[in-house]
Amino acid sequence: MTRAQILAWQDDPGSGLKPLERPVPTLKRRQFPLEIQWPKPAPPPDDYRLESAAFRYWTAAEALRRAADFWASIVPKSTTWWLGGTLPAVLDAGRDLNASYNRGALWFFHQRVAGSTIYSGESPDILCHELGHAVLDAVKPQLFHTASLEVAAFHEAFGDISAILSALQLRPVRQAVIAETGGRYQSSQVSRLAEQMGAAVRKLRPDAAEGDCLRNAVNSLIYRAPIDLPPWGPASSLSSEPHSLSRVFTAGFFEALCLMVTYRGTTLTQADLLCGSRQAARLLIAAVTGSAVTVRFFAEVATNMVAAARAMDKAYPALLRSAFVRRGILSIERHQTRRPEPRLGLVTLDTGEYGLVDTPIVVQAAGTAQDAHAFLRWLISRGSLEVDDRKFPGLPVHPHTVKSHRLAELEGRLVLERILFDCGFHAAG
Ligand SMILES: [Zn+2]
Repeated sequence: MTRAQILAWQDDPGSGLKPLERPVPTLKRRQFPLEIQWPKPAPPPDDYRLESAAFRYWTAAEALRRAADFWASIVPKSTTWWLGGTLPAVLDAGRDLNASYNRGALWFFHQRVAGSTIYSGESPDILCHELGHAVLDAVKPQLFHTASLEVAAFHEAFGDISAILSALQLRPVRQAVIAETGGRYQSSQVSRLAEQMGAAVRKLRPDAAEGDCLRNAVNSLIYRAPIDLPPWGPASSLSSEPHSLSRVFTAGFFEALCLMVTYRGTTLTQADLLCGSRQAARLLIAAVTGSAVTVRFFAEVATNMVAAARAMDKAYPALLRSAFVRRGILSIERHQTRRPEPRLGLVTLDTGEYGLVDTPIVVQAAGTAQDAHAFLRWLISRGSLEVDDRKFPGLPVHPHTVKSHRLAELEGRLVLERILFDCGFHAAG
């Protein structure tokens, strides 16, 4: 007899929240259909023991379906995955401390760290983060190839926000976070992302993750333009590395959500929090859809969230502004006259200074050539550009880093294109 329920993590395996029984998820729904490409076939639904592959299968299926259903209820009904049809997920693509989205599938891995094996495809935080990349790519496909550190950071922030909002769709998670924080902007199971992966990363590289998780949406980081930031740094400081910079937008968004659900001063209920999570998601999607792709993409989206909030609740615009001003994402002036920023377009970069061949590189830039240069230099210095060293012998090559970009030859020119969003945990490379 097939069971109607499975056992699944309600939040990250390291969050302290116990697994709970959930209805068996149907992966192939009409909007945002999913399939688990590996392992196949699916184990029969049941309450499996926690360390088993069958448990990991069902907890992944449950988290991915929950996140996809959540976003399907927020985005326009006509929205499809970028690749159209069904989005595959590969729950264990081999040995790595990583997860990624490459437009063809969501990819998860496993690695043994200090005596225990970590599966990135077991954590709802990581699963819902990767699914967030796919949702944002469905809603705003022009971000994928854009050669801009801030745009890349926004994609990472959206992934983390997807993890937070998907967790809040579970009533026990809402009850736990209310019991812990009352809805105030304080660290909780929900704000702490990928606790188990964070612990594994700290064992390999102690400064690459925060003290109690991988990234925390409750932090004290303030926006600075990525061009003014170091290319990389410890988790305690801000760098232009997209996961690092993403924490500023995630924090602004999460504080805005906290203010939206607490400003009335009444005791927060789990129903209020559910409503607030859906409202915040609707504002975010409306803002992203209407935003021009510029080098100040954080400010662009934040401004549009504030504008969209007027029609929702007359108190919200001031609350959202406050959260984003505190982060330095929006300016303090009430009637800020914003210079029109240059928009998305193709820019040809002369890259002789990097020791590349004389062929110029064409990139999809969010604005200025200076910003696109910064992005390309960052890719090369981090070892994230796939390079044929016979053709480009002058470029540094790192054998262990994941390559997120490559140079494609097109009609005698080189075009920079993204291969994947590497959500890597920076412990290996
Ligand atoms: Zn990511």
